[in-house]
Amino acid sequence: MSLGLYIHVPFCSAICNYCTFNRGLFDHALKTEYVAAVLKEIERAAEPSAAADTIFFGGGTPSLLEPEEIGAIVDACRAGFALSGDAEVTLEANPESATLDRLARFRAAGINRLSFGVQSFSDAELQRLSRLHSAGRAREAFAAAREAGFDNVSLDLMMWLPQQTIAEWLTSVDALIALGPEHASLYLLEIYPNSPLRDAMTKSKWAVAADDDAAEMYLLAMERLDAAGYQQYEISNVARNGRISRHNLKYWTDGEWLGFGPGAHSTRGGVRWRTVSATPEYIAAVQTGGQLIAERRILSRQDGIEEALFTRLRLTEGLDLELVKSRYGVDVWRQYGGELKRFVEAGLLIYDERRLKLTRAGMLLANEIMTVFLGSHVR
Ligand code: SF4
Repeated sequence: MSLGLYIHVPFCSAICNYCTFNRGLFDHALKTEYVAAVLKEIERAAEPSAAADTIFFGGGTPSLLEPEEIGAIVDACRAGFALSGDAEVTLEANPESATLDRLARFRAAGINRLSFGVQSFSDAELQRLSRLHSAGRAREAFAAAREAGFDNVSLDLMMWLPQQTIAEWLTSVDALIALGPEHASLYLLEIYPNSPLRDAMTKSKWAVAADDDAAEMYLLAMERLDAAGYQQYEISNVARNGRISRHNLKYWTDGEWLGFGPGAHSTRGGVRWRTVSATPEYIAAVQTGGQLIAERRILSRQDGIEEALFTRLRLTEGLDLELVKSRYGVDVWRQYGGELKRFVEAGLLIYDERRLKLTRAGMLLANEIMTVFLGSHVR
C-alpha cells in the first residue's frame, strides 16, 4: 500500500469567522523558518524505499507559500520517498491569491491538482463568512487554473450558511456545475460556540435555514450534480471521469499517511501520532531536536475495526463485508445486524449480504447510524 504525504501549511491572509483549523496570520519571517523546518522534518523521516503516490498541501492556505518553496518541499518528498511517476500532488488554494502567474509556477513546481476553497458564489454569503474573495474572483481563479494547464481542479462549497435559502444554495451549485471542475466537495457549515461568526449572527440577527431545508439542500445539490455527470463517491465528495481525490481516499480506506508541519497527523504501521500544533513550537522542536510529537497512540484491534466501519461507510461503495471479515475477523452483520436492521427498514441503509451501504437519505443521518458501531466491543 502506497503512502500519502500530507504537508500542513498553517498560514492565512485573514482568519475566517467560522474557522477552527490549525492556522494563524501570515508572517513572512515565520513562514521562511517554517519552510526550513518542514524540509528538515521530511529529510529526517526519509525512507527512500517507501512507496508514496500522493502529496497533499493542506492548511491554512498553502497557496500563500512561494511556488519555489512548494517546489522545494515536493523535491524533498521525491528525494525522501519512492514517489510514483503519476503521483497526485494537490495544493489547496484560496481564490484571492491565485493569479495566472502564480498558478503556472505552482504547476512548474510539481503541483498537478488544485483544490479551491470557493465556499459560495454569492458575494453576500462570502461577506457574511468574512471571506476575502468575491464570486467573480473565484471564477477568475478557476479560469486562470485552466489557462495554467490544470486539468484536475476541485472546488469546495459550503451549505447551510447564515441567511442562505435553498434557492440561493442551488445558485451556487449551478455556478459550480457551469465551471465544470473535475471534483467538488460540499460541506455543511458548522457554527461553533464562541466563534466570531456566532457573535456576528447574534448581532446581525442572521439565522440558518430549518433542519429539513438543510437536508433538502444536500439532496437537491446531489441530484443536480448527478444530472451534470458527477459521481458521488463519498458523503461530501463527487468527481467526474474518475477524478476522485486519491489522497483523501486513503483516510477513508484504512490507508497510511505521513503528515509534516505543525499539528499534522500520521497513521502508519498501526500507530497514529500528531506533531505539536503551535508553529513556533514546531519550528523549535525540529531545529533543536526537541519533542515534536504531541500525541502518539498505538491503535488497538478495536480502534482499527471502528475506524474501518466509520470511514468505509462514508463511501458510496459502502462496506465490503468480506474484506472487513478477512482483515479484522469481524462478521459485521452478525455483530451489529440486530441494531442496523431498523435503518435498513427505514430506507437509510442497504444490506445485500456482501455490502452495507448508506442510501443518500442515510448519508444525512450517517453520524446517528454509525453510533451503532461505537463502544460495542468486538469479541
Ligand atoms: S482560509 Fe481556510 S484555514 Fe484560513 S482562516 Fe479561512 S477557513 Fe480557516
